[in-house]
Amino acid sequence: MNILVVGSGGREHALVWKIAQNKAVKNLFCAPGNAGIAQNATCVDIKADDIDGLLSFALSEKIDLTVVGPEAPLAAGIVDIFEKKGLTVFGASKKAAQLEASKTFSKNLMIKYKIPTAQGQSFTNYDQAEKYIKSMAAPLVVKADGLAAGKGVLICNTEKEALNALTLILKDQAFGSAGARVVIEECLIGEEASFLALTDGKTVLALPSSQDHKRIFDNDEGPNTGGMGAYSPAPLVDSIMHDKIMNEVMIPTVNAMAAEGIPYKGILYAGLMIDRDKIKVLEFNARFGDPEAQPLLMRLKSDLVELMLACIDGTLDRHTMDIDDKAAVCLVMAAGGYPNSYAKGKVITGLDVAAKIKDVVVFHAGTQFKGKSVVTSGGRVLGVTALGETVEKTIDKAYKATAKITWDKAFYRKDIGQKALDRLNTPPKVGIVMGSDSDFAVMKETLVTLKKFGIPYEITVASAHRTPERACEFASTARTRGIRVIIAAAGQAAHLAGAMAAHTTLPVIGVPIDASSLNGLDALLSTVQMPPGVPVATVAIGKPGATNAGILAAQILGVSDPQIEKYLEDHKKDMAKSVTKKADALAAKLK
Ligand code: AMP
Repeated sequence: MNILVVGSGGREHALVWKIAQNKAVKNLFCAPGNAGIAQNATCVDIKADDIDGLLSFALSEKIDLTVVGPEAPLAAGIVDIFEKKGLTVFGASKKAAQLEASKTFSKNLMIKYKIPTAQGQSFTNYDQAEKYIKSMAAPLVVKADGLAAGKGVLICNTEKEALNALTLILKDQAFGSAGARVVIEECLIGEEASFLALTDGKTVLALPSSQDHKRIFDNDEGPNTGGMGAYSPAPLVDSIMHDKIMNEVMIPTVNAMAAEGIPYKGILYAGLMIDRDKIKVLEFNARFGDPEAQPLLMRLKSDLVELMLACIDGTLDRHTMDIDDKAAVCLVMAAGGYPNSYAKGKVITGLDVAAKIKDVVVFHAGTQFKGKSVVTSGGRVLGVTALGETVEKTIDKAYKATAKITWDKAFYRKDIGQKALDRLNTPPKVGIVMGSDSDFAVMKETLVTLKKFGIPYEITVASAHRTPERACEFASTARTRGIRVIIAAAGQAAHLAGAMAAHTTLPVIGVPIDASSLNGLDALLSTVQMPPGVPVATVAIGKPGATNAGILAAQILGVSDPQIEKYLEDHKKDMAKSVTKKADALAAKLK
């Protein structure tokens, strides 16, 4: 098979590195590529936006599959042009790529199909946009509609800043035609995560979660860049959040595009803002992220070529994605001065030494050959990517490898992955123990509820009858791990909550599970009928009880935590609103 990869950055190096592992690949080309890519592919001197040049090359070299890395050729219609000539190409069509290339298109789609996003509107008229800004409370975000190399988003803390941003984009045309339209939206709070999936327009196969670092300096300070590092998995996106993202964002978006008559094939990348249990889409991209591609492709065990071909021919439902359990971390080494002006042509040393470290790959982004030396040729120069047992060990490995490489004024952030470590090291406040893993279907409701209140938890399985020592050990050591409330769930002769209450001074909430012919009444009685002196706060049987156990735990913690108390008040208001809405709907129906 002859394959052509279009692009020249770290993402394309990762793509080429992964594609080269497929045994069926005979000739692998990259246009235009870089010095690192040249180790795995033949670099061809054609620019990524020279679609005519790429087309003649693909036809003359009998390319069987073209893989498009960056957004610009996708938005310019490379996929449609190649397909018209009978070529096989992986990427979104011109119309589908609007999801990235037009923020108005994606905002309207999300509003129409109720995909969660920041409240906002799109304008071409200055006066109308000005009126909208004045009607919204600052902070606000003003965005150029089109592709602006990641620079077209202005976060405005005051109304005045928002009006200045509007003038800059619409009147001064600071981003050229990309700013002929603006999208103005509410400023979201939370933590960002990237969620990528492969899709053939019907089936959506998720890649693992990842997080990027957009700002140039440590602690997310300084101007935005193309990305200074990334890691995967992102602990922010646990399995509950993963399912929620798939069900509320990824699958609805692919279905929405199909319903609009614009089937979406290729990579769907959602940039998300996550606040406790709430997800909102910040942006969509129609391609792999850079640097997210580097850690993601290091973790992908399945063959990428087969997956891409399945996306193209609509057979992705026959595939699964095999992902390495290990963590991956990518550190971007940049030229001093980036993202503003920086020097090029600096000789890079230490590449060979770093490449010899096990489970480390140095992906090249802005490099070229000068004679036999590899020199810098861009702002982001390298993406040193490591694979390891834990996020902590992997960060360490990536920094050790990075320390082997240098050039005049090389620069990199020192805190890549810190957010993941902070989250992993946050002690749990609630400890949940289930008598059996089969109780998880019910107890998932407790986790969903705790997430709503931003409460960290720990969950495990221990049986009062089969592993009594384990259950007691959990209860007697819980306080030292930071746990303040224990929730115990069990079915049948449910002695778990009582046994745990006997071994701790922490409050214990018992959730009776419906796991026998007695419909959970057995579990209810054995949980609630505790002797005086050892109380178990018992909630309802099954899922309603699991939800209430989460709320009760939040209420216990809320007594001394004003933030949780505030979330509880919001929760009560939301519940009241939804009941009023139902009452109004019923009244309207009966009129
Ligand atoms: P975008 O290209 O739309 O993802 O915007 C680039 C970056 O701007 C995002 O990664 C966020 O850091 C930030 N951003 C975009 N939209 C918003 C928003 N509505 N609220 C807060 N931050 C935002």
